[in-house]
Amino acid sequence: MRSVPDCLGVGLEQAEQRLGEAGLSVVLEDITPARAPAGYQDLRVVRQRSIDEQTVQLTVAAFMCGPSPEPVHIELTEAPESGVYMLEMVLRERLAICVGSLGEIVFEAGEYVYVGSAKKCLEARVGRHMRGEKKLKWHVDYLSSRVRATRAFVWPWSEGLECRLAGELAKGGSIVEGFGASDCDCKGHLTRLRGGSSEWWRRLSRVPPPSYVISSPEKDRS
Ligand SMILES: [Zn+2]
Repeated sequence: MRSVPDCLGVGLEQAEQRLGEAGLSVVLEDITPARAPAGYQDLRVVRQRSIDEQTVQLTVAAFMCGPSPEPVHIELTEAPESGVYMLEMVLRERLAICVGSLGEIVFEAGEYVYVGSAKKCLEARVGRHMRGEKKLKWHVDYLSSRVRATRAFVWPWSEGLECRLAGELAKGGSIVEGFGASDCDCKGHLTRLRGGSSEWWRRLSRVPPPSYVISSPEKDRS
């Protein structure tokens, strides 16, 4: 019998080479989910079995390649035209405010993150969030007019990413129900983070890391 080289955990290219050198042909099965986050590109063998004397089936899945890239710090004026963003707001003391159609909401002190997106004019949108003075139109306006928005993390715009980010974010805290989710099926697009860490965005799994981070030019107002 032909001996079959062990390829478990090995990169796909290398595994195919090993099997090729042993005179074996390969049947591939890729079990990477169709919606795997960007960055999951490193295909590795997770299972192997011999189908017959000459053929080996390799089951491969994608893994994250190396450490995630760091978001690039940019000025608001350098913001891309479109994007999905997370807006970080720090509330120093308890605040009860009327949030339009949602009525009065009591916000406990803490760190809040709001998820939104802009298909165009991202700079104006994020600028609006970071400005205290504004007409109150969206749910987030009621909060961001009272609480300092400290940073915005930006991802390239893509269909469905906004709600995916809102779902991932919610795993790290408690959702403010209904907030910012009038146009989708999410429970909410605002989350009060559990535990204070300025590196909270690193805990987001299953989504690509943000491309940019924009710090608020405004002074504290809460
Ligand atoms: Zn949503």
